[in-house]
Order: sequence, then C-alpha cells, then structure tokens
Amino acid sequence: MGLLDGKVALVTGGSRGIGAAIVRRFAEQGANVAFTYRSSAEQANALAAELEQLGVTAKAYQSDASDYEAAENLAKEVLEAFGQVDILVNNAGITKDTLMLRMTEAHWDDVIQTNLKSIFNLTKHLIRPMMKNRGGSIINMSSIVGMTGNAGQANYAASKAGIIGFTKSVAKEMGSRNIRCNAIAPGFIETDMTESLDDKVKEGYLQNIPMNRLGKAEEVADVCVFLGSDLSTYLSGQVISVCGALNT
Ligand code: NAP
Repeated sequence: MGLLDGKVALVTGGSRGIGAAIVRRFAEQGANVAFTYRSSAEQANALAAELEQLGVTAKAYQSDASDYEAAENLAKEVLEAFGQVDILVNNAGITKDTLMLRMTEAHWDDVIQTNLKSIFNLTKHLIRPMMKNRGGSIINMSSIVGMTGNAGQANYAASKAGIIGFTKSVAKEMGSRNIRCNAIAPGFIETDMTESLDDKVKEGYLQNIPMNRLGKAEEVADVCVFLGSDLSTYLSGQVISVCGALNT
C-alpha cells in the first residue's frame, strides 16, 4: 500500500530535476500524476511512459507556468482527464542570476513571472475544485535564499520570499476548508540548476553546509510525499527547509 494511493497530483516543472524526482516518488507511492514542462517534451513523455509501468496514470502536459490562461486551460484538462486534484506542487522555477548593477527589467520580470506569478496562476484555478473535493494539499517550492537573500539573486530571492508570504496567506484563508498550503525551502540540490554554477561558487557553498554535501532531488521529493500524504493532516502554513542544516 502506498502513502498516496487514490490521490491525484499535479506537479509543475516535472520533466527534470526536483520536479521529476517528485513525480517519480508520487507514482511509487500510488498517486496518479499529471505534470508539466516548458520545452523538454522528449524527457517528459519518456518519464510519463516509465511511470505508467508502475500501474498508475501519468501524463505530461506542455504548459508555460508563467501564463495565466495556460494555467486555466491546464487545470481544466487535468480535471477532465483525472477527475480531481488532491495535491498541487508548484515547483517550476528558473534563475537569471546577476548583480543588481547589471540586472535588467527582463531579468527581473522573467524570474518573477515564472517563479511567483506561476504559483498564483495554478492555485487560483485549482482552489475551487479542491473546495468542492473538501480538501487538498498545496506545496510551493521556495528556497532558503527566500529567507536569507543572496548576492546576485535579488530577483530570485524576491520571488522565493514572495512564495512564503503567499503560502502562509493561502493556509490562513483556506484552513477551514481543509486545504493545506506549505512551502519547501531547499538549500543546494544537485540538478541542472546548480550544475551550471561556477565550481568555485559551489565549493564556497559546500564549506558552509554542515552536512558537507549537496542535497539530492529525491530528498526534497520525500518531503513532498509527506506533505501530500495523510501523515501531515494538521500541518499547514509552514516552510520546511531541506538544506543539510545550512539555514539553521
Ligand atoms: P531545473 O533542474 O532547472 O528544472 C526546472 C523545471 O522547471 C524543468 O522541468 C523545466 O521544464 C520547468 N520549467 C521552467 N520554467 C517553466 C515554465 N515557465 N513553465 C513550465 N515549466 C517550467 O530546476 P530544479 O533545480 O529542479 O528546481 C526546481 C524548483 O526548486 C525551482 O522552483 C527552484 O527554484 C527550486 N529550488 C532549487 C534548488 C536547487 O538547488 N536546485 C534550491 C532551491 C530551490 P523544461 O525541462 O521544459 O525546461
């Protein structure tokens, strides 16, 4: 028996990295999973086919998380195909790192639209169906940088801090409807996003991580399983850091 048997999950940015690990873990725990990608169609469809082997329903959707209308269409399509959404994981995110002196309006807008507006977009379109369903779990992917700030990441840190305010507000608004809303704040996790960092920068981070290593996408995914499951039915409005004690 899986921890998520009978539940339906929608995960944004599920084609690679942390999102793909969440999609895999959810399917392993018995959930039917819809997930999105922006451009990695081949990877996303291969993942969906792999998950179907586990005996669950899995489907990949090309959908730009930053686009409000696209989110509305996605919510409709997923509800039609899967009947309900019990767990929404707003995971899609990007970085456009640069110092303030060099940051352009486009650097700012792209990151805010993709990381922060995206979370409003899908939550907005799934909150009513969750109310009808008498419950749901919304999991928003923030970052420890949203709490600490980081030089060269003013746009990214602002988007991730915004996610925390949004998460706590939705938890307060929707608590009486049995809709829980939590954020996860990963530290440095091994994915394409951190792969692109300079080796010197990575070494610097590593020196400050008490657990002495970067995290794995699966270690973030396991916390998502907990937050999506009935093991966390009284947990809402919280930010859980998954960072090897970096942000302590
Ligand atoms: P990643 O490896 O770069 O993967 C990003 C995923 O998001 C991909 O599936 C990508 O789809 C999707 N995506 C990007 N923009 C999108 C859009 N506009 N619409 C739909 N999907 C979109 O990143 P990651 O490291 O797994 O990060 C996942 C989340 O965790 C992000 O929110 C990130 O900010 C957060 N996080 C990561 C770390 C870390 O150390 N890695 C730390 C803290 C927080 P395509 O494959 O189609 O491009």
